[in-house]
Amino acid sequence: MKIIDKEFGEVIVRKNALTRNIKFSISTSGRLQMSVPKYTSEFLAKRFLNSNRTMIKEKLPIKNPKDQRSRDYQKKMLMKKAKEYLPYRLEYYAKLYGYKYEKCRLSHANTRWGSCSSNKTISLNIGLMKVPEVLRDYVILHELAHLNHMNHSRDFWAEVAQHDKNYKIHEKKLKSFNPGI
Ligand SMILES: [Zn+2]
Repeated sequence: MKIIDKEFGEVIVRKNALTRNIKFSISTSGRLQMSVPKYTSEFLAKRFLNSNRTMIKEKLPIKNPKDQRSRDYQKKMLMKKAKEYLPYRLEYYAKLYGYKYEKCRLSHANTRWGSCSSNKTISLNIGLMKVPEVLRDYVILHELAHLNHMNHSRDFWAEVAQHDKNYKIHEKKLKSFNPGI
């Protein structure tokens, strides 16, 4: 369900059989998102939205509703580019340095560039397509090193350094970019 709100633009309403409470959050597209119990009517959802308006404005970083559609488009284009690039780049470095991973997943989280799970799935943020290649490669090498070290220990960084001796500079530079769209 989607509510069109004067102030917040499109509000995503997700019905959740397991929840009893209403929870507000921000979707990866920057829209306001409500998680509501399964049988919540639109009328009720709107009422909750209205009674929480002040709290939402204070606490949640909703992106400008006027740009929702153009951000959707940007994201679509970025996803397209990422699909044609990131899995291959990952494969290239994995082969080059002898890493074995299970799966490459493309993500669009707002806060992280990549991750590596214990089942050897590597997630790469499509926002990487917006940063310089050298930083993109650094993230890939960082996640690959997590295949051997599921932490940020000294051994982990030593392994990253083997493949990217400027990793400290790259890590720092990456902070000036935002993974979200
Ligand atoms: Zn890490």
